Amino acid sequence: MSEPSGLSGLMQGHGLLISSLLRHAARHHADTEIVSRRADGGLDRRSWAGIEARARRLAAAFRALGVAEGERIATLAWNDWRHLEVYYAAPGMGAVCHTVNPRLHPSDIAYILNDAADKVLCIDPGFLPLLGAIAAELPTSLTDIVLLDDTLPATLPALPAHLRLHAHEALIDAAAGDFVWPVLDERAASALCYTSGTTGRPKGVLYSHRSTVLHAFGINMADAMGFRAVDRVMPVVPMFHVNAWGIPYAAAMAGAALILPGRQLDGASLHALMNAEQVSMSAGVPTVWLNLLAHLRSTGGRLDTVQRIMTGGTACTSLLIDAFADEYGVRMEHAWGMSEISPVGTYHALKPAQSALPEAERRRHLLKQGRVLALLDMKIVDGEGRELPWDGVQFGDLKLRGPWVTAAYFGQAPGSALDADGWFATGDVATIDADGFMEITDRSKDVIKSGGEWISSIALENIAQSHPDVAEAAVIAARHPKWDERPLLLVVPRPGRTPTEAGLLDAFTGKVPKWWLPDAVLIVGELPHTATGKLQKTALRARYADHLLALKTD
Ligand code: AMP
Repeated sequence: MSEPSGLSGLMQGHGLLISSLLRHAARHHADTEIVSRRADGGLDRRSWAGIEARARRLAAAFRALGVAEGERIATLAWNDWRHLEVYYAAPGMGAVCHTVNPRLHPSDIAYILNDAADKVLCIDPGFLPLLGAIAAELPTSLTDIVLLDDTLPATLPALPAHLRLHAHEALIDAAAGDFVWPVLDERAASALCYTSGTTGRPKGVLYSHRSTVLHAFGINMADAMGFRAVDRVMPVVPMFHVNAWGIPYAAAMAGAALILPGRQLDGASLHALMNAEQVSMSAGVPTVWLNLLAHLRSTGGRLDTVQRIMTGGTACTSLLIDAFADEYGVRMEHAWGMSEISPVGTYHALKPAQSALPEAERRRHLLKQGRVLALLDMKIVDGEGRELPWDGVQFGDLKLRGPWVTAAYFGQAPGSALDADGWFATGDVATIDADGFMEITDRSKDVIKSGGEWISSIALENIAQSHPDVAEAAVIAARHPKWDERPLLLVVPRPGRTPTEAGLLDAFTGKVPKWWLPDAVLIVGELPHTATGKLQKTALRARYADHLLALKTD
């Protein structure tokens, strides 16, 4: 940032630093709880003051290990207090917290560690077998492994001899307690997260202190996550994927309690933790909520304290919105984002006009991905880059810009991820309505281009998904001799149901133009998913793209 050419403001120039968030929580919400589910099922109880004291010691320990500013400290860990300590210790001392997704293929994990050239790896004991599997491919930059546990186990996988091993608790116990958070440049890198890479190799998104703090303010607005000091927030969204949607930072800013579910993410475990720890708000992907719903319905369980649930990562369904509202009195809040946007870009909160809608229409509106957060801007463009009108009907490529949108991937030239006007192309296709509510209609690579017109695969999936016989549905572009591409519907039936092609196609009548109807339906046992739980359409296309051509020649 350059000096202003006119008159300078005369306000204090404190930078936006991640350590300030933790310091605030420790000083003003000292006793507020951080509760974590341990691997053995028991609960660990800390406070913001306790976490800050331990994060300072950990930062001192990292420094003693020789970690320099800008160097990367990787994590392979679940949502718990030790991961939270690394989340703050690494950027707080000027290093970069590089969260790695353990659900990725081991070869991708090895690639990511090498691409990031990590110096330290903090790892949950449960991932030691994974570490053993990639031992030969670990980066030469790696000097230290920190086991997120009390002590080192008796047996460890065979690792390169030069690596030093430490137990997290031993490091903290041995470290000096007088470490002071350094004053850093707010534009310094703070965290690194790789995109799931459904095509090609994963790419690193490098966040800064400034972008992270601004994002935390953005999601803490009342029309977004809007945390308060009375909240007890449970991020089910993993801290190893896009900063758990910014919740670890936003909760510290608001002085909210954090309830961290560890590795037990099944419906029964989440339900028990929500009630026992009086969770008021939770966040995660739709699959998590479908599992919770199935558990609640089968056991007759209630949600005693949860008021709202934020869902994102993939589209929310009306089943979720209706079931949680009508059966449990819980508001589902739909948001959209991506790694490159820190990740939250839009959040659904009603304006007066939508609040006044008849109930059925209001419910339908909640399926939209929402309005853009303040300080960001968005637009939709056609194939030639011309901006499209906000009529809720025309759909085009969605672009965003703002202070927590990436400008370049890790290791690439500044600004290389932007177009000439500074906009970032999200790779999503969307409509925007007159009130500024965005609705995703597709990924740009999944949209079905039939005779020059676009068909939204997601719109078709949503309809198929609401059929009572359907557990999960996918629609892909299948090659067609006349129309280039036509929709092919793949359906996983609900247990005990046997849907027919005619019955399934009937569900589309009157809901979409006739020419959008899938050309064929395939009943399958399961659908492939990526490591972040999204439908893996590349795999489906590799297998079924020629299905219609095969039908024609039979
Ligand atoms: P990731 O960077 O792994 O978080 O993936 C980001 C992508 O997930 C986005 O570009 C969207 O395609 C998809 N996505 C995220 N949130 C939603 C949502 N609420 N509805 C539909 N797609 C979503």
